[in-house]
Amino acid sequence: MPAPNSPTSDLPYARQSIDDDDVAAVVHALRSPLLTTGPQVAAFEADFAALVHAAHAVAVSSGTAALHAAMFAIDAGPGDEVIVPPLTFVATANAVVYQGATPVFADVDPATLLIDPACVEATITPRTKAVVAVDYAGQPCDYARLRDVCRRRGLKLVADACHALGGADGDRPAGSLADLSAFSFHPVKHVTTGEGGMVTTDDGRLAQRLRAFRNHGITSDHHQRRREGSCRYEMLELGWNYRLSDVQCALGRSQLRKLAARVARRREIAATYDELLRGVEGVEPLAVRERVGHAYHLYVVRIGPGGGGHAAGTAARLEAAQEAGATRDLVFSRLRAAGIGAAVHYPPVHLHPYYRRRFGLAAGLCPVAEAAAERLLSLPMFPEMTKDDVGRVVAALQEALHGAVADGARFAGMRHA
Ligand SMILES: *Cc1c(COP(=O)(O)O)cnc(C)c1O
Repeated sequence: MPAPNSPTSDLPYARQSIDDDDVAAVVHALRSPLLTTGPQVAAFEADFAALVHAAHAVAVSSGTAALHAAMFAIDAGPGDEVIVPPLTFVATANAVVYQGATPVFADVDPATLLIDPACVEATITPRTKAVVAVDYAGQPCDYARLRDVCRRRGLKLVADACHALGGADGDRPAGSLADLSAFSFHPVKHVTTGEGGMVTTDDGRLAQRLRAFRNHGITSDHHQRRREGSCRYEMLELGWNYRLSDVQCALGRSQLRKLAARVARRREIAATYDELLRGVEGVEPLAVRERVGHAYHLYVVRIGPGGGGHAAGTAARLEAAQEAGATRDLVFSRLRAAGIGAAVHYPPVHLHPYYRRRFGLAAGLCPVAEAAAERLLSLPMFPEMTKDDVGRVVAALQEALHGAVADGARFAGMRHA
């Protein structure tokens, strides 16, 4: 069996890091009296809140649960619209639908692929309740402008920060940039608890709603009842069992201690990619905003010739997008054949059959995101990658591009050395 990351082993696009002290923390929690709703949950929440400069952190069972809880906390419901970007995981928009509200898609900036505040503003109607910004690939959005739009229009701002733990906008860390921020601890993310999530907020009333929501909508937990010497409890609203166990929170605390070092390593890997890809025709990394602390959950490039989403007519644009998509798909399968685990983040959410059918959506709604999506490729990115691994990915990518051209992909306006 080849050693991990040997030149012949497969490189996945993401991989968790689990150390001996993570294992020890889990074993310790397993042998303690409380496996859930015990001291590890509160300790993980306190560590997390301090790390992201938030007043409150509420642990939940997944990033999806975090987004759902956020939509509940702001009282999004039937008749309300919530603005979301199309280039995200389906869970961002699904959380809106869980609450009976309507997701409305606002296009992204062509350079960064982050939700465009001007498109957000143009999408607001009297029914709009909130905006969900997604820190795509780990780069925090333009929160100064988004907060300004939301303040002026009386909207709540929610951050889907599932990519951005350890990132920052100016000197404010992800988790402190919006009214509510959602994080995921899925194994591909920066910190893992197997499955898990967190919501952060500075608003005590919202935090209280989040805590009730993850526990069936019941106002107290067993600690409170014991403290009060009471056997009574009340369910005020419909909630869910979205709790995270003490075993998972113990793992989360142990993982959190290594976050800064791992984000620093991800930035080094990204810098190596940037350097090796400079001047490579047909591969375009995403732009990084000024004064942003990129957390590099993903390293995303666009394959094939540029041009953004602003080609002359709709028909010409669709044809160009299809051509780009075919090229990207060829590059993807050639990388896979070479043992390089590339991935596509994401097919635009509004074009999934469910969203087309349920909300009557179609191509053309978000032209920038739709054109970009056909060209997107996420290259392997995880802290244990070596510089040689990055070199191997870039060499395989160049070979795959040349191969794709030989396979008949047309690169209008593209030169190949
Ligand atoms: C991972 C992710 C989620 C969902 O998190 P889970 O923990 O898998 O439920 C939501 N939004 C984004 C942008 C994500 O990357």
